[in-house]
Amino acid sequence: MNERSLAQLPVTELKGVGAALQQKLEKLDIYTLQDLLFHLPLRYQDRTRIMPIGGLRPGDEGVIEGEVRAADIAMGRRRSLVCRLQDGSGTITLRFFHFSAAQKNNLKTGTRIRCFGEVRTGASGLEIYHPEYRRVDDSVITPVEASLTPIYPTTEGLNQARLRTLTDGALEYLANGSLTELIPENLRQQWRLPPLNDAVNYLHRPPVDADQAQLLDGYHPAQRRLAFEELLAHHLSLLKLRQRARQSGAPTLVADGRYRNRFMQLLPFPLTGAQQRVSEEIAADLSQPYPMLRLVQGDVGSGKTVVAALATLQAVEGGYQAAVMAPTEILAEQHFISFSNWLEPLGLNVAWLAGKLKGKKRQAQLEVIEDGSAQVVVGTHALFQDEVRFANLGLVVVDEQHRFGVHQRLALREKGRTDHRAPHQLIMTATPIPRTLTMSAYADLDCSVIDELPPGRTPVSTVVISDQRRPEVVQRVRDACGQGRQVYWVCTLIEESEALQCQAAEVTAEELREALPELRIGLIHGRMKPAEKAGIMARYKAAELDLLVATTVIEVGVDVPNASVMIIENPERLGLAQLHQLRGRVGRGSVESFCLLMYHAPLSQQGRERLAVMRETTDGFRIAEKDLELRGPGEVLGTRQTGMMSFKVADLQRDADLLTRVKQVASQLAADPQLSDAIIQRWLGRDEQYAAV
Ligand code: ADP
Ligand code: MG
Repeated sequence: MNERSLAQLPVTELKGVGAALQQKLEKLDIYTLQDLLFHLPLRYQDRTRIMPIGGLRPGDEGVIEGEVRAADIAMGRRRSLVCRLQDGSGTITLRFFHFSAAQKNNLKTGTRIRCFGEVRTGASGLEIYHPEYRRVDDSVITPVEASLTPIYPTTEGLNQARLRTLTDGALEYLANGSLTELIPENLRQQWRLPPLNDAVNYLHRPPVDADQAQLLDGYHPAQRRLAFEELLAHHLSLLKLRQRARQSGAPTLVADGRYRNRFMQLLPFPLTGAQQRVSEEIAADLSQPYPMLRLVQGDVGSGKTVVAALATLQAVEGGYQAAVMAPTEILAEQHFISFSNWLEPLGLNVAWLAGKLKGKKRQAQLEVIEDGSAQVVVGTHALFQDEVRFANLGLVVVDEQHRFGVHQRLALREKGRTDHRAPHQLIMTATPIPRTLTMSAYADLDCSVIDELPPGRTPVSTVVISDQRRPEVVQRVRDACGQGRQVYWVCTLIEESEALQCQAAEVTAEELREALPELRIGLIHGRMKPAEKAGIMARYKAAELDLLVATTVIEVGVDVPNASVMIIENPERLGLAQLHQLRGRVGRGSVESFCLLMYHAPLSQQGRERLAVMRETTDGFRIAEKDLELRGPGEVLGTRQTGMMSFKVADLQRDADLLTRVKQVASQLAADPQLSDAIIQRWLGRDEQYAAV
């Protein structure tokens, strides 16, 4: 029996597996015997020894055996069957809330039973609710389990006993053949990885002396062995994507400085060292004959837009168009304004496209994009609709990409591709991505980090305050505005519905207008017309408004240096990354800035921790690491739905230390495409096609 057959043998090969059971297994993503073998226990029970009743503590889980001393029905709040069980060391109560008359009769005084359950503190001292139990015969020895009992992740209608029988069956197949060892012997030796088959066997049926705590934490060498291979599979698949992208050609964008030099002269500030360095990295990529795939990370306010502008100028100098895409209309508009201001004095045309642009105006923009008279095009994802045809697209810049998700990022690559050429791609994010995630989720990208803020910024002081102190907060807003500062007041809502968010913001704006009649208060939310929003933003920017009430639409990119106070209502509803983004809207000028996180009590433990992180640091990378720790990679990357980052065994947080090794091994294996394909296939199987888009 070889791997091919285990990977190809459907679960129906096993005795007793019919269509109904097959369907349930499919819900767990189990189709083949190999899938079943990779369906690993969540935890284990120790049924390998009988514990003395006298030594039990609340929370213990185990097997006990004794004689029934009494079995009575207790009335109390809920009727229950109460059975006293005694062994040589002590007594304990077994309590059943659901029971039959037959059950009661079975548990006669003097009967010996063996049971398994979790010990808790109940009405009569230590109790076990609804233990599993069976009668045992005094005269014969009833064997205990020989290995730890696995508890599998399961689905409705599929119980543990059934899963155990199924995995028993699959393990039998494994005993007769094997799963192919895909990691070469020398590498396994070097990294001390146990053989695959041993690891799989061990994890399904750990021996009596296995270190349970280690297994539970996921640090057993057998688990790490599998986690390693799984991470390796993900890494290899991303490398493959990258290789595929590299195979396609790209326009070589030769910079002659025509526009760049003039641009630098007109720019009112010098580049920071980090901007300079990252621009050079990008410039080098753009001059290659294969597509750049570069991720630029830079904290809010680090000046990514200028870096993007320089890249677009290189595309134009090289004779190509550049597209700049932002995730929201407000942001796209702001970029359009910046790019127009910067590039039109150089004699370049900047086109604009968004979903809401309709009719003749839209037509006009589509035309200048298609005939090439617009060298740079700024817009929302509307840019990637079929009707948009570029004359010769050489560079795609995607701003604030984490809003788009991994899946869309991959899809974007295809846009603007001709038969054998793809545009260069520059992805910019203000969400610092923890290193562990960059190494896994973004292994197909090169990364640059703008790790320096332009001079003259003062860090934002953050205050965490209960909404019971709202009047004080309102007073603080009054004071700040009285001193000529501008304030953001951000409303959040749990509901995804934009309509409700906007309503909430409207109500808040009304309340604040009543409380602060002397202030000029504006309102901005996602349901307003672009022109309306732009008008409000323009007035706020021009300091014609003191206070701007907003939904989280202002989250990314909006730039008003005089705004130095931000109130965030119910910050506990937002992720750390999002809070960090929001807070980045203030602290852009030279005055001291404040961010007031006005939470609604009571806060959960995690909620408290998260707000504390915000108070303690303004370092986006630290915040991102913390976010990852508290919420997991799916939430941080916003890719939970795509399934891209879901692992069977590995855990990015726990197994982060493996990633460096994974990377090394991956680059060694990349030379053997057949082998790396086999590893990818084993772990990603069905998912690989979509990952490849
Ligand atoms: P982000 O990285 O958040 O997109 P922006 O590109 O919007 O940041 O830049 C934030 C602000 O900093 C803008 O007003 C921009 O003009 C300004 N800025 C960018 N680079 C510099 C620099 N090197 N020196 C001074 N100000 C800069
Ligand atoms: Mg930006």
